[in-house]
Amino acid sequence: MTELTDLTIAEAREGLRGKSFSARELAEAHVDAIDKANDALNVYVLPTPERALDMAQSSDARLKKGEAGLLEGIPLGIKDLFCTKGVRTTACSHILDGFTPTYESTVTANLWAEGAVMLGKLNNDEFAMGSSNETSFYGPVVNPWQRKGSNAKLVPGGSSGGSSAAVAARLCMGATATDTGGSIRQPAAVTGTVGIKPTYGRCSRWGIVAFASSLDQAGPIARNVRDAAILLKVMASSDPKDTTSVGLPVPDYEAAVERGVKGLTIGIPKEYRVPGMAPEIEKLWQQGVEWLKAAGANIKEVNLPHTKYALPSYYIVAPAEASSNLARYDGVRYGLREKGSDMISMYENTRAAGFGAEVKRRILIGTYVLSAGYYDAYYLKAQKVRTLIKQDFDNAFEEVDAILTPTTPGPAFTLGEKTGDPVEMYLNDIFTVTVNMAGLPGMSIPAGLSSEGTPLGLQLIGRAFDEETLFRTGRVIEEAAGLLFKPQDWWSKK
Ligand code: GLN
Repeated sequence: MTELTDLTIAEAREGLRGKSFSARELAEAHVDAIDKANDALNVYVLPTPERALDMAQSSDARLKKGEAGLLEGIPLGIKDLFCTKGVRTTACSHILDGFTPTYESTVTANLWAEGAVMLGKLNNDEFAMGSSNETSFYGPVVNPWQRKGSNAKLVPGGSSGGSSAAVAARLCMGATATDTGGSIRQPAAVTGTVGIKPTYGRCSRWGIVAFASSLDQAGPIARNVRDAAILLKVMASSDPKDTTSVGLPVPDYEAAVERGVKGLTIGIPKEYRVPGMAPEIEKLWQQGVEWLKAAGANIKEVNLPHTKYALPSYYIVAPAEASSNLARYDGVRYGLREKGSDMISMYENTRAAGFGAEVKRRILIGTYVLSAGYYDAYYLKAQKVRTLIKQDFDNAFEEVDAILTPTTPGPAFTLGEKTGDPVEMYLNDIFTVTVNMAGLPGMSIPAGLSSEGTPLGLQLIGRAFDEETLFRTGRVIEEAAGLLFKPQDWWSKK
C-alpha cells in the first residue's frame, strides 16, 4: 500500500470518505514523519502534534456523521507568517519572540472551517524577505532534493522555503505560503512542487504578517495542480476585514483542472530571454511551448517591454512599504523588548537586537526612498514604472490567454552560496516580481530536472482573476512533464 504521507490531497479525500483510513491515522503518519525529519530539514519552527491529533479526531467525528468539509482531515503546514490563534507566530523574526496571536488569519480560518488539520508552523525567511530561507531567525531550511552524486545541502527557495520543502518531503499534504515578489513560485520551482500566487485581492491578507501590503498575496504550495486548486478554493474568500479583498465569487478551481488548452493562445515574451540565461532553462521553456502546442494551444510572441525595470522598481516599492509596516515593532506592542535607559533607547535596542541583517537593509533602503528629496526620484518613479508594467500585461492579454516563462533563472543553489551578495540573491526573482507588480495570478509547475538532477519549474501568468486558465494550462504541463517529482529520502531518522 502507498504510504499515507505519499497520497495526494485528492486521494486522501477519497480514502477518508471511503473509510480506508481515519483522519487520526493520516495525522499520525505525518506527525511521525515530521518527528523523524525535522532535525535534518528544519522545516517546522513549531510542530503542533497534539493540536493535529485533536483536530483529526474532530474530523473523524464529522466524517462519521456525514458532515465532512472540503478539506476534512487533510493535514497541512502553515507558514509562520499566518497568525494562528493561541499558537506562536513570529514571521521567523527574533523581534516577534513569544508572540501568540489572539486572532486567526482569515486564510487559515477558512481552512479550519472546512476541516483541515494543522501540523504546525513552517519556517520562512524573516518577514518573508529572501529567496533562500536563509534569513530566518530559526536557521535555514534544507531542500530535500540533492544533486546527483552529492550530499551538498541545497536551499529550498524562499521566502516560503519551509512550505516548499515540507510539501516535497511529504511532511504535510499541502501548505500555505505567501508571495510578495516570488515567494510561492520560486520555492515551488526548486523543490518540484506546484505553487500558485493568486490575483491580488483573491485571498484576504487579514491576519498575515505584512511585508509589502500592495504586493503580498497568500496562496498554496501542493504536490500537484489539482491539489493546489482544491486548496486555493478554500483559502480564497472576500473578506470585509481586508479592504483590498475583492468581492468576486470564488470559482470551483478543481472543475477547471482537466479542461485542457485546446483553442487557448499562450504568449511567449521575448524579454524574459535574459542575458546569460542557462541553456537548460531555455530548453525547458521551449519544451513547454512544444507541450502546449501538442495539446492544441496556439503560441504567440508577445512584448512586455518594461520587464527589465521590474526588479529594480520592486526593490524600491517593497522596501518602502516594509519600512512602514515594520515601524510597529517597537518593543511595546509585540514580542521582544530590550531594556533601555529611556523609551527611545528601549525602541532602538529592541529593533537593533530584534531584526536580522536583511530586514535592516530593507528598512534602511525603504526609509531612504521615502525621505524628502528622494521620494520623487525613487519611490514615485518606481510607482510609475509599475503602471507601465501593468499596461504591458494589459496589452498582451488582448492577444493571449496566458503567458509562459521559466519560473527561476536556475535550479536550487547550495546553502551560503549567495548570502554574501544581496543583488545576486535578488536576481532569483527576475521572472516572478513582474507578476506582483501588476497584481496578476502566477503559477509554477514542475517541468523537468536540471543537469544536476534537481527540479526546474515553468511559470504561467494569467489575467486578473482568471486563475482557472492557469490551472487548466498548468495541468497540461504537469501531465506532459510526466516525472514523479519525489526526492530520495535521506533525511529520516529510521
Ligand atoms: N525574494 C523576494 C524578496 O526578498 C520576494 C520575497 C517574497 O515574495 N516574500 O523581496
